[in-house]
Amino acid sequence: MLNLNLKLKLKLILLPSPFPLFSKVATFNKTPLRILSLTTDFSPRNSSTTTMSINLRTHVFAGNPLHFKSHKNIDSLSPSSAFEALTARILGNSQPSPTPLNFKVLPFRNGKALASSAAGSGDSPPIWNLGWIGLDDLRGILGSSGAQLSAESLVYLGSEDDVVYWAIDVSSSEAVEFGARELSFVEVRTLMVASDWRDSQAMGNLAVAGHAKALLEWHNTSRFCGHCGAKAVPMEAGRRKQCSNDSCKKRIYPRVDPVAIMLVIDRENDRALLAKRSKFVPRLWTCLSGFTEAGESLEEAVRRETWEETGIEVGEVVYHSSQPWPVGPNSMPCQLMVGFFAYAKSFEIKVDREELEDAQWYSKEEVRKALTFDEYKQAQRSAAAKVEQMCKGVGKNQSLAADFNVGTQLNPMFVPGPFAIAHHLISSWAFADQNVVNGVGSNSKQPVSSI
Ligand SMILES: [Zn+2]
Repeated sequence: MLNLNLKLKLKLILLPSPFPLFSKVATFNKTPLRILSLTTDFSPRNSSTTTMSINLRTHVFAGNPLHFKSHKNIDSLSPSSAFEALTARILGNSQPSPTPLNFKVLPFRNGKALASSAAGSGDSPPIWNLGWIGLDDLRGILGSSGAQLSAESLVYLGSEDDVVYWAIDVSSSEAVEFGARELSFVEVRTLMVASDWRDSQAMGNLAVAGHAKALLEWHNTSRFCGHCGAKAVPMEAGRRKQCSNDSCKKRIYPRVDPVAIMLVIDRENDRALLAKRSKFVPRLWTCLSGFTEAGESLEEAVRRETWEETGIEVGEVVYHSSQPWPVGPNSMPCQLMVGFFAYAKSFEIKVDREELEDAQWYSKEEVRKALTFDEYKQAQRSAAAKVEQMCKGVGKNQSLAADFNVGTQLNPMFVPGPFAIAHHLISSWAFADQNVVNGVGSNSKQPVSSI
């Protein structure tokens, strides 16, 4: 069992962000186990309806378009040979290559990704993009000799046709200039909130940025071998590490921390259990969640966490979907949120006040009201405006738009936005009986796999 204080801290940090995005109702695809494409399908806008159904095919931070491409191309260009080609080009001793390669590099500084921003059409909010740089800019960052170029700070992200994509950590470089271009280092979480959820390119960019951030932070937190204490050196262009001690040579792989996140359901009375975690976001109600402990299955973690936090016994546990979550604390480069429906066997709530502010049963009607709220769109607009201001170099003494602008409408409760798996667990339960996906009837029901 983890130390209680530590555990409490971890839970507060992994809480899905309260800043929701643009969509009023989301319905999760009914087949969570199949390979999901990046495409999102959306119902036509219909001003006569008060809700908009969205059929999400993949969670935010999943569906990385470069992963898909890399797997196809893995035979033609290994990460190691791509790194050798990049090093040669930086140092100017490039050998003629059968396939000319182009390099795109995404710089990060202190966990923030380089981003640009462009005006949206009409009254749409600005649209951010990843701030890819080319070899000339990279040489500028590294110095003319390229002496600082090391696999320590550079990780391979994937390749597509003749372009190889990299991320570089420039936290230790002094001021980084990119000429007249309007670029700024922005928190990935802010980019997440600023994204229009209907924009598949933005979703792809978020997945790339999330993967890069997770890898770079993992490199930062795994500098030494945990077995013998010798230096751990990057291998395969940063995709793994290895102990430099010849008598040890331990292989070290990127760390993923599994978190069980569950919507606890009272099937008989058609209610769901929602928890209020933080007094700092007083109206936010969300799913229970917690880290899986060593020697424990995910289903056991669902039952244990629910019991510890609310005193409720869980029987059947049904898998829903999972989401990489690279925007937690630096010490946890990538959490994997594994989502479940958890069916309650007992119903009396005894809140553990060290873990939660409160927990209550809510009817479907109450939950639907929390899901059809304009704050999602408003939060996206203000975050997109903030990214634009940062890219335009708003002075330090000028205030940026807040990430979270509650506006004037104050619903008594709201749930995390569509970028968080909690949103989809809650909305797919709340709208399961409506059979509406993409504006047409659907046989979409709760997942059938049962444990
Ligand atoms: Zn070692």
